[in-house]
Amino acid sequence: MVDCCSVPGLLPFEQALENMLTAINPIDETEPVTLKNALGRVLAQDIKSPVNVPPNDNSAMDGYTFSQQSLAINTTLKLVGRSMAGSPFVGECKVGECVRIMTGAKVPADCDTVEMQENCQVEGENVTFLSPRKHADNVRSKGEDIGLGQAVFLTGRELTAIDIGVLASLGIDNVTVFRKLKVALISTGDELKKPGQALNDGDIYESNSQFLTAILTKLGADIIDFGIIEDVETSIFNAFKKADEVADVVISSGGVSVGDADYTKTVLESLGEIAFWKIAMKPGKPFAFGTLPNSYFFGLPGNPVSALVTAHQLALPALLKLQNVNRVQALTLNAKTTSTLKKSPGRMDFQRGIVSNDENGNLQVTSTGSQGSGILTSMAAANCYIVLAAEQGQVSEGEWVKVQMFDKYLQ
Ligand code: AMP
Ligand code: MG
Repeated sequence: MVDCCSVPGLLPFEQALENMLTAINPIDETEPVTLKNALGRVLAQDIKSPVNVPPNDNSAMDGYTFSQQSLAINTTLKLVGRSMAGSPFVGECKVGECVRIMTGAKVPADCDTVEMQENCQVEGENVTFLSPRKHADNVRSKGEDIGLGQAVFLTGRELTAIDIGVLASLGIDNVTVFRKLKVALISTGDELKKPGQALNDGDIYESNSQFLTAILTKLGADIIDFGIIEDVETSIFNAFKKADEVADVVISSGGVSVGDADYTKTVLESLGEIAFWKIAMKPGKPFAFGTLPNSYFFGLPGNPVSALVTAHQLALPALLKLQNVNRVQALTLNAKTTSTLKKSPGRMDFQRGIVSNDENGNLQVTSTGSQGSGILTSMAAANCYIVLAAEQGQVSEGEWVKVQMFDKYLQ
């Protein structure tokens, strides 16, 4: 579709994302895990509560419990026992009687209201209630947090530390989750050296597979690192072929442009069905997506910022779909830019910014400065993307812009 703002030969960002999401079939294999191993895993079952939380009506205060009927007759009641957390009162609390009760302790069956001890006068066995109380005051009712059979979490939830606490509070000690994705990483480039190695003239350190590993770890994937592959057609062919045999997803970086040493395209076209796209986004124009015989393939650009932004904005949503995650959309806000933002119409920009409160508490965003696609520190300094639509031109200081907060996968 060509509209007023599309640039010939460039695929709009949203279209690229939609094409990929349509092509992905989520995995369906599942496995049981104990709560200890459940952090970050994706639920493959709906969780319905097997219990009421709390299991009984219980007291929200340290004080005395009684029935409203008793208090209507007399404001002084006879103390007949006590109910402690873990040792409930057994016996009867008749009309005219009350029971000492502690926070969290079960409210006896004959009682319906709790008065805090500060509002009671105690003389021997007689407790006088100084102010009236409404029915059920200071009582936490059975099932008020979660009712028996209530749906608590649905399939597709990526379990958080809090969720694990909730599951434990329901007495659940294991859950069924989708199996982990196996992701193969390939970095192409003769100039690349692993951090820790010595650099020869013209070399640079390889960073793409390092942050990809970190992002994929957040996603809970198992990573198979194929390391750095030289710019030799047979080496690239062999690496992609092996990676496809062992992984659900193969992610490469570098070699997707049309330089003399860019063999990725030829190799991949011989192995599978790959679309090489020039996407109308900045950073990150060249990007490849497709299927190999056994896996999905994402070809990221080599420049670290482009690789990171395309991995986060394009590959990650596709991986989340493959892993069955019901994605929580990144928070977007409107903020005033504190400086001019350079932009020409044509591509959608994901500039890097720092969102903060101004002196009046309103949101402002400050660009992290130079936005070159090799400047990875521009991402490290940022806490958000400044998302500028493809058709947008230069933005002046003080104008409102849309910002998208960095999510947990980048942190
Ligand atoms: P390419 O797409 O292979 O031409 O790479 C574009 C730029 O990104 C070149 O300057 C490469 O040196 C750099 N580059 C490619 N892969 C990586 C990597 N894994 N880590 C850091 N820089 C890279
Ligand atoms: Mg290269």
